[in-house]
Amino acid sequence: MPENNHRKHKTSRAATRPKAVFVVEADHFQQLIDALRARAYQVIGPTVRDNAIVYDEVTSVADLPIGYTDEQEKGTYRLQQRGDRALFGYTVGPHSWKKLLYPPVLRLWQAVRNGNGFKIVPDQQKMPKLAFLGVRACELNAIAIQDRVLLEGAYADPNYKQRRDNLFIVAVNCAQAGGTCFCASMNTGPRVSGAYDLALTEILDAETHLLVVEVGTALGLKVMEDVQHREATEADKEAVERIVAETAQHMGRTLDTTDLKDLLYQNTEHPRWEEVASRCLTCANCTMVCPTCFCMTVEDVTDLTGEHAERVRKWDSCFTLDFSYIAGGSVRSSAKARYRQWMTHKLATWVDQFGSFGCVGCGRCITWCPVGIDITEEARAIRESSTTTSPTHKLVIEK
Ligand code: SF4
Ligand code: SF4
Repeated sequence: MPENNHRKHKTSRAATRPKAVFVVEADHFQQLIDALRARAYQVIGPTVRDNAIVYDEVTSVADLPIGYTDEQEKGTYRLQQRGDRALFGYTVGPHSWKKLLYPPVLRLWQAVRNGNGFKIVPDQQKMPKLAFLGVRACELNAIAIQDRVLLEGAYADPNYKQRRDNLFIVAVNCAQAGGTCFCASMNTGPRVSGAYDLALTEILDAETHLLVVEVGTALGLKVMEDVQHREATEADKEAVERIVAETAQHMGRTLDTTDLKDLLYQNTEHPRWEEVASRCLTCANCTMVCPTCFCMTVEDVTDLTGEHAERVRKWDSCFTLDFSYIAGGSVRSSAKARYRQWMTHKLATWVDQFGSFGCVGCGRCITWCPVGIDITEEARAIRESSTTTSPTHKLVIEK
């Protein structure tokens, strides 16, 4: 069992982190967006669209979800007005940064007819230089997990690497926890740690509206030269610690991770899997919103003329029948087998594969499950009535 779910992405950035802490008045926050855009970054941040806070290009502070918060529960997400001018007064929405680093649909190459044969044309899409504005602690951990899977294994994903190498990260400490959050249980938040360039904490009361800025890299320090600021006082730094400590006390959910891996390995035939399967629609929403899920499939598409074909990579999910289809049929044809696969991977086999849980406690899978299935509730149900049905560590393949 990992003591800490968070492992830092090994970059020289993290190793050379300056210790500067500044304060920027909210009225001057536009200067940070301008400073990034002046360095040719496309700034992606939170914005309101279709009654949700999603990640898209932001060019101005006015694009941020000013004064909005989100109410989240099992299968429920609602935006509400806070009655103030908070810039980051919400938690996380349906989007994760995964959609930008590991796109849902990616063309890998094209083939064009060349006489009697085909010529393969590698895809040379120009990678934008991205700056992520508003990365939460759990999300920073999710990026670190995807780094481990997509960069640090035997075969690095070149497209992911290109996007990741150019990335500037402005993280944000959470000043409130959402109804489905449990990052404190997973040791992934709410305090931001890890590889960021700048980390913000918003302080907002009747008299003050400012952002405390912790500098994580030399590049972050350089960017701050273009933003009006002052040195943070001890009182500012204490306010940051107080805010994140209070947030940690108000998590909407908890998950007991004690011996969790072994618990799941020992309960592969627990009756709870049947029970949750009777509710699960196998819609795959939980995997689409999850910031760490990385399953994908590859499709070849040809046009009607036969002159042109292309190979496309798309997000897939362990909840689809096709995902585990091999000669003779799907390996996991029942909802029970698919839900068990997903949860056991997140909270057990992932530990053996990658050295951490595959869950950072962001709560998205709980909020966006149409029938309100809650991973913390499922793990608790198994813990409370552990049957130890599988005495040895083995995976059961069931049709
Ligand atoms: S757990 Fe919920 S979101 Fe996930 S596949 Fe089942 S019904 Fe869909
Ligand atoms: S499993 Fe659920 S709570 Fe955990 S990281 Fe994925 S979406 Fe977030």
